[in-house]
Parts: sequence; C-alpha cells; structure tokens
Amino acid sequence: MRAAVVHEFKAPLRIEERPVPTPAPGQVLVRIETSGLCHTDIHAAHGDWPVRPTLPFVPGHEGVGLIEAVGAGVKVVAEGQRVAVPWLGWACGACEYCASGWETLCLQQRNTGYSVDGGYAEYVLADAAFVGRVPDSIDPLDAAPLTCAGVTTYKAVKVSGARSSDLVAVFGIGGLGHLAMQYAQIAGASVVAVDVIDSKLDLAKQLGAAHTVNAANEDPVEVIKQLGGADAAIVLAVSPKACEQAFGSLRRNGRLVFVALPADNTVHLPIFETVLNGITVTGSIVGTRVDLAETFELHADGRTRVIRESRKLEEVNEAFEEVLKGTVDARLVFDLR
Ligand code: NAD
Ligand code: ZN
Ligand code: ZN
Repeated sequence: MRAAVVHEFKAPLRIEERPVPTPAPGQVLVRIETSGLCHTDIHAAHGDWPVRPTLPFVPGHEGVGLIEAVGAGVKVVAEGQRVAVPWLGWACGACEYCASGWETLCLQQRNTGYSVDGGYAEYVLADAAFVGRVPDSIDPLDAAPLTCAGVTTYKAVKVSGARSSDLVAVFGIGGLGHLAMQYAQIAGASVVAVDVIDSKLDLAKQLGAAHTVNAANEDPVEVIKQLGGADAAIVLAVSPKACEQAFGSLRRNGRLVFVALPADNTVHLPIFETVLNGITVTGSIVGTRVDLAETFELHADGRTRVIRESRKLEEVNEAFEEVLKGTVDARLVFDLR
C-alpha cells in the first residue's frame, strides 16, 4: 500500500510502499477512500507540541473508508461498512473518565495519526469499537472533515454552552472554524467570525455569520465590544494572540473555549478581569463516539455544509503549504480512490 510517512520533524513527508497490515483481535482493516488534512497533522509532522509522536509515523485522523477485513471477535461492525477512523483511536473504557462520558480524557487513550499510524495511507488498522459508522447518504469527501473538524467543533460548541440569544465569537474560519460557526447557529446563537484573510470571512458570510472582523485590519476586541461583547468565544486560530483577543471580546460571565494548539504554547490572560467579570476559561479536545455519531446525523439531515477541495496523497507536502499560507477555502481532503 501507499502511505505518506514522517521520518523527521519539519522535513517533507515521503510517499512509500508498505505492506498491508493484518487486523489483530478486536481490530478492523479499513481501505481508505478519503482522508482529511487537519492542521494537527502539520503540528504532528513538525513536532510542535510538548508530547511528540515517535518517528517514523503515518499522520491522519480524518480517514474514511470501507472495512475490508475484521480481526477475531469483532461484532460491532462488519466487512463492507463505511467507517471513519478518528483521533480517539482507543480508550480503556474502565477509568473514571471513560465511565463518566469523558473518554476523550482517558489517560491510556491511543491517538490515530499520532501514537498509532493514521489515515494518510491506502489502508489503516483501527479498533472496531472506536470507528464511527458513516451514514450511506454522506459523501466520503464530506465525512472526512466531519471526523475531526466536525466532531471537535460540535463538542466545543456544546462546551461553550451556546444557546439562542447568545453571540458567539469564532476566531479562525479554517477547517474547524467553518463548521464551528454552523454548530453555534444550530444551537441558536448568532456568530461573529474573525479571521485575518478576507476570503475566509467571505465564506463565513455565506455560512450565515451575522458579523465578520478581519483582525489584520481591525481590532476584534473593539468591534465585538461594540456589539455588546460575546457570550462565548471559541478559538480555532493557531495564534496565542487570537486567544488573548477572544478573551478581551467577552462580556461579563462569558466563556472562553480553547481548541487551537499553537506551537507557541503560552497566553497571557489578566487575573483581575477574569475574576471581576466572572469569565470561564476552558479547553476542549475532540469529542466522544456519541458526539461523532451526532455530527454525522446532523450532516445526514442536511443541516451542515462541508467546504472542501480534494488533493492526491502524492501532493501532501504542497497541501501542507497551502494550509499554512491560508489559500484553501476550508478543508483539503486526500482522495485515494
Ligand atoms: P486551519 O489552518 O484550517 O484554520 C486556522 C484558521 O485560523 C485559518 O483560517 C487562518 O486564516 C486563521 N487565523 C490564523 N491566524 C489568525 C488570527 N491571528 N486571528 C484570526 N484567525 C487567524 O486549521 P484547523 O485544521 O482548523 O485547526 C485549527 C487548530 O485547531 C490547530 O491548531 C489544530 O491543531 C487544532 N485542533 C484542535 C483540536 C482539539 O481537539 N482541540 C482538534 C483538531 C484541531
Ligand atoms: Zn484534527
Ligand atoms: Zn479510560
């Protein structure tokens, strides 16, 4: 099989031939049809974060495809079914977090495309209990971005507590942000979209943003304060400065949700204003299997739009550059069919 492999941090990925793996008990072998490019894959390949993947590895946690073989004892899925292989590749099922609906916080979890090989390949192994069933009506090119960008922002909007009459500020209208703003609107909120690229803000308008702010020309804190302040702000921009601006844009009792994971891992937030204004600061990491199922359900019901362009796996290094330059509409998806 062909796979895109990281051998060295910050070096180009190499397309290689590898043997097709065999599923162990409890695993499935998925023949990848489509595989989304999440900004996390770039962080992984650059070794941006405090915990780095072990080299060499195959990135990708938005892989979608058909089950080609099942390992011993697999009962929950079967050959021929279309599934998604998300970031949460496995969790223990027994710890306090798993048992209380927070499997995404399991200390023993395995992460697809990070601690185990991921979806930038023609085949991937996955734990049968952690793949997401993709409804037949969903185009695999849409299903791929929903597998991380979708479920992550669906969950972040839940965590933000957004509801009707709220103003939600969405910082960064990329792969994640273009979906976050749709989930915030499904929750009944109106959205102010912030980015530094005009074309991203044009997309935000098409997707229903009530207001847009180009943070390269205007101060989003000023503009959003003029609107009365945001009840919640969700940060999907790979920028500590955007985190600080999101904090500044909140009204009293506001909720700040960190989702983006910039290599520069520090923000400066004032204690006095956090206390006096009763601000909540929280992080949100992907979503559970139930969140993923709900994300697919909303899309199957026609309630979300996935903005994506397809690329060949061989174009992986150019695709990383396109995302870093901000020249893609929202999400790039490798089409391996
Ligand atoms: P992306 O590159 O598609 O989108 C980022 C967007 O932010 C772009 O539109 C860019 O123009 C915009 N931006 C950059 N600087 C900005 C600034 N100063 N102000 C406003 N907007 C700015 O990336 P993505 O795939 O959407 O991922 C975003 C981040 O979320 C990454 O750091 C990724 O690792 C992280 N992530 C986190 C989780 C999680 O579970 N917490 C899951 C997936 C991705
Ligand atoms: Zn991701
Ligand atoms: Zn656990």
